[in-house]
Amino acid sequence: MKQIQGLAAHAAGAELLPFRYNPGELKAQEVEIQISHCGVCHSDLHLIANDWGISQFPFIPGHEIIGKVTTVGSEVKSLTVGQRVGVGWQSNSCGLCEWCSQGMENLCAAAEATCVHRHGGYADSIRVNARFAVPVPDSLASENAAPLLCGGITVYNPLRIHGINPSSRVGIVGIGGLGHIALQFARVFGAEVTAFSTSAAKEEEARALGAHHFVNTRETKAMREVAGSFDFILSTINADQDWMSYVHALRPTGTLCFVGVPPSPVTVHAFPLISGVRTITGSPIGSPYRLREMLDVAARHGVKAQTEAFPMQKANEAIEKVKKNKVRYRAVLAN
Ligand code: NAP
Ligand code: ZN
Repeated sequence: MKQIQGLAAHAAGAELLPFRYNPGELKAQEVEIQISHCGVCHSDLHLIANDWGISQFPFIPGHEIIGKVTTVGSEVKSLTVGQRVGVGWQSNSCGLCEWCSQGMENLCAAAEATCVHRHGGYADSIRVNARFAVPVPDSLASENAAPLLCGGITVYNPLRIHGINPSSRVGIVGIGGLGHIALQFARVFGAEVTAFSTSAAKEEEARALGAHHFVNTRETKAMREVAGSFDFILSTINADQDWMSYVHALRPTGTLCFVGVPPSPVTVHAFPLISGVRTITGSPIGSPYRLREMLDVAARHGVKAQTEAFPMQKANEAIEKVKKNKVRYRAVLAN
């Protein structure tokens, strides 16, 4: 009987321990993937800590997966054995609702997440619905491409949807796993790009990744100086902030978009939203179609995650380093 070997959290906040499960029969629409790499997204840390109250223990985290297809279900026509594919946050959707039928599967009410109520990618293999395993262009190295499957699509999709172009002035808040990829895509889209960071030591690298400007957010004066400057600000941070200072940093008609998940409710005054017709919004990952487009754009324009590799067995070490904001810029587990 097939066993999948991985590393699981058995309780909120616990260290990951070796764990095996029997995946049962391969479903007709599924593929099995032998995992070579899996990125460590901060969402994995939120799930391990049960910050969102949705974790079911034990579970194997991991949703920035790259590997080779080893088995295809009887109805799978889109993938073949041996093909290199990636899997991100989403592993299934109903395929029938108005959102799925428009290619917006990420908005499906029945969306299934790769490592919520099922086992994810800190493992030797995984099974997912074949619609959610996307081919990876040959020119992308697996280690640098794995983080694109969640971190990459999460920042690419809103930049694309909000029409970022050479006339746009874009701010990226938090230069971590998501933020360092966002700097690259915003630059590829031709925008004038500003990095907002609490880490002064990241300035040089942020500029090399695509930022024209760098704002140290620990300096109140620097934040005041950028008031009224941005068409679009993308927040990738997982901490509470003075969000009013970001609303003030928007130009009239500008948008503050959340992809990072702060622990507390976001509180702002309505007045600058009214007077400047400013918008606050959010964005969840992206559809399989957008994932393919994003990987293609990354391959053609040289966008890749800057990574620190850890052997899969050292996942706990990688997690500790992410917790301390010490990784430059994405930890990736390798089998
Ligand atoms: P990460 O690699 O840990 O990066 C987060 C960055 O936020 C840090 O590098 C740091 O940047 C900044 N930061 C951390 N603590 C801070 C604090 N106390 N105050 C101000 N800034 C702080 O995390 P990630 O993997 O990029 O994920 C970021 C967030 O996005 C998480 O909440 C995750 O769950 C969420 N997420 C959402 C989606 C979605 O679909 N919307 C998808 C993936 C992830 P500096 O050092 O530059 O300040
Ligand atoms: Zn993620």
